Amino acid sequence: MSTGSMSARTACDVIVIGGGAAGMMAALQAAWAGASVTLLEKNEKLGKKLYITGKGRCNVTNVAELDEFFASVPRNPRFLNAALRQFTHEDTTATLDMLGMPTKVERGGRVFPVSDKASDVTRALARGMKDAGVQVCLNTEVARVARGEDGLLAVRLAQGGTLLSPCVIVATGGVSYPSTGSTGDGYRFARDNGHTVTPLRASLVGLTMEEKWPTLLQGLSLKNVRVSARVGKKKIFDELGEMLFTHFGVSGPLILSLSSHLPEDFSQAAVTLDMKPALTDEQVDLRLQREFAQNARKQLSSVFVELMPARMGPVFATLCGLSADAPVSQITREQRQTIGHMLKALPLRVTGTRPIEEAIVTRGGVDVTEITPGTMMSRKTEGLYFAGEVLDVDAHTGGFNLQIAFSTGALAGKSAAERALSWQ
Ligand SMILES: Cc1cc2nc3c(=O)[nH]c(=O)nc-3n(C[C@H](O)[C@H](O)[C@H](O)COP(=O)(O)OP(=O)(O)OC[C@H]3O[C@@H](n4cnc5c(N)ncnc54)[C@H](O)[C@@H]3O)c2cc1C
Repeated sequence: MSTGSMSARTACDVIVIGGGAAGMMAALQAAWAGASVTLLEKNEKLGKKLYITGKGRCNVTNVAELDEFFASVPRNPRFLNAALRQFTHEDTTATLDMLGMPTKVERGGRVFPVSDKASDVTRALARGMKDAGVQVCLNTEVARVARGEDGLLAVRLAQGGTLLSPCVIVATGGVSYPSTGSTGDGYRFARDNGHTVTPLRASLVGLTMEEKWPTLLQGLSLKNVRVSARVGKKKIFDELGEMLFTHFGVSGPLILSLSSHLPEDFSQAAVTLDMKPALTDEQVDLRLQREFAQNARKQLSSVFVELMPARMGPVFATLCGLSADAPVSQITREQRQTIGHMLKALPLRVTGTRPIEEAIVTRGGVDVTEITPGTMMSRKTEGLYFAGEVLDVDAHTGGFNLQIAFSTGALAGKSAAERALSWQ
């Protein structure tokens, strides 16, 4: 471990606050660049959130090309240009591989540990930090970050004591799943140092609905359906996939993705579900005519069972203003057309999101216009860096959020080390 330019008064060249994906990568890269690094983590262990990612398997990154990556980042994608170019998904997998944690690519370009264990990611990064000489302080909560004397930054610890350093990287995460340690402390550090924090909202989260009918279908998942959303005439979302009815409304991969596109005022968005995305309206009507002819002596439920999961039939019939017990022979042409329309565009009246604490990721954060994209350093306070979810960037599911944490962490780590080592 090099002591770099560290003076007698400074704790080390670089202090990293937060031992999540971004913080561990930042510490590792700063140490590899020759800086002496201290990482402060308030939990009793590193990577508590990493541990629950990808349902315990940790979707570490995605092999998507850069353009596709940007398309998966609904807010401020261009801010990430430098970070994603200087530390790519290949760099993530190569780093993990080098640290003894090989990865594999799955459907949709998603990358997972070969072991399918999220804990292996933290173990690999922790091993890397140890070998690189990073001083990891667990159970160490940072209370404040302020400008100290001689251009140093002063990191005040909750348990008492202050550490001085020329460079401090804030990698404290967002506010979702606070039990993992992400309680939004970094936003306070940012504001204290002159930064704007854009409004915090839930993203990649389940949606609540105006009507009660989805709760009747709780636990039912629909595969190969299309969910679309419009604000006025503008289509803001249109994707195929899987969704789930829950006790509060709707969730599942499609709905999580939809949540990151919805406007602040949910009432502006018209969301619809297409249960037959492979068929046109006309083809759906022809299919209905055929089903009606084949089930002429039966009840409507016999037709619905051919078109949707059995549990959904009675609820769907009510939504069409009909009864599932109605004889098929008595269904009028208009009623058949209503059924067809509802199959293709069933309205999902979304009222809001589940609480931000339940979100996969926080939308909003430290305003990226106040951060230099090529270094991750604050434009407000010299020597202060931000990385990971604390920034106002968030992405879709698929490994993109962790790659953002790794890329911004790596860039902040390298830049901070460079600055610290040339600092007088
Ligand atoms: C259930 C779930 C599943 C997910 N699955 C995936 C997935 O498979 N793939 C993917 O790409 N993304 C996934 N994500 C999102 C991803 O986990 C986050 O975007 C990512 O972990 C953010 O990393 P970070 O380092 O910025 O923050 P975090 O991982 O939240 O780390 C921040 C760290 O800072 C520490 N800290 C906070 N305040 C202080 C303080 N004052 N002093 C000291 N330490 C402090 C915290 O204890 C924490 O350890 C998932 C998220 C959730 C909730």
